[in-house]
Amino acid sequence: MKNLSPEFCKSVKSARREAGLTQGQLAAEVGCKQSALSMFEQGDGTKLNDEVIEKLAKKFNLSLSPSASPAKVNTLPLPHSSTPPLLRGFCPNPHCPTNKEYFVEEIRLFLPDRETADPVGGKYCAMCGELLERKCPNCGAAIHAGAICSLCGQPYVVIAE
Ligand SMILES: [Zn+2]
Ligand SMILES: [Zn+2]
Repeated sequence: MKNLSPEFCKSVKSARREAGLTQGQLAAEVGCKQSALSMFEQGDGTKLNDEVIEKLAKKFNLSLSPSASPAKVNTLPLPHSSTPPLLRGFCPNPHCPTNKEYFVEEIRLFLPDRETADPVGGKYCAMCGELLERKCPNCGAAIHAGAICSLCGQPYVVIAE
């Protein structure tokens, strides 16, 4: 697409992360290659065709032309079929049995067991009743299966010494 701003490409990236989608998942959903989406997210607006870009704009409710008429895109109804997959939370309580203690070079870490803490996609930990976290408590990035946020490098579960 011509005259597509790099800001739009970046906003697709952050919207995708907030939705908890991988590039592969989103590419399959809008019908493009993961490699093309990757280059697009890095700011190369020519990598995807107009149809795919419009799908992305609609899905994440993003404006394609901030200088022209930003309201135009938002008037279209959002498809209900594109709800993001259920993201299981983790328990931020370091004393909860769902958090498995381990050590890396004498640094105490906890690996959250998201299946045990959040078996049904609820609001509270199934083991200890603590309010579950669905985002990195430090930077707000979408969580993944590991113990440490891949975006900011902070452990998800921290214990006060
Ligand atoms: Zn818990
Ligand atoms: Zn983080």
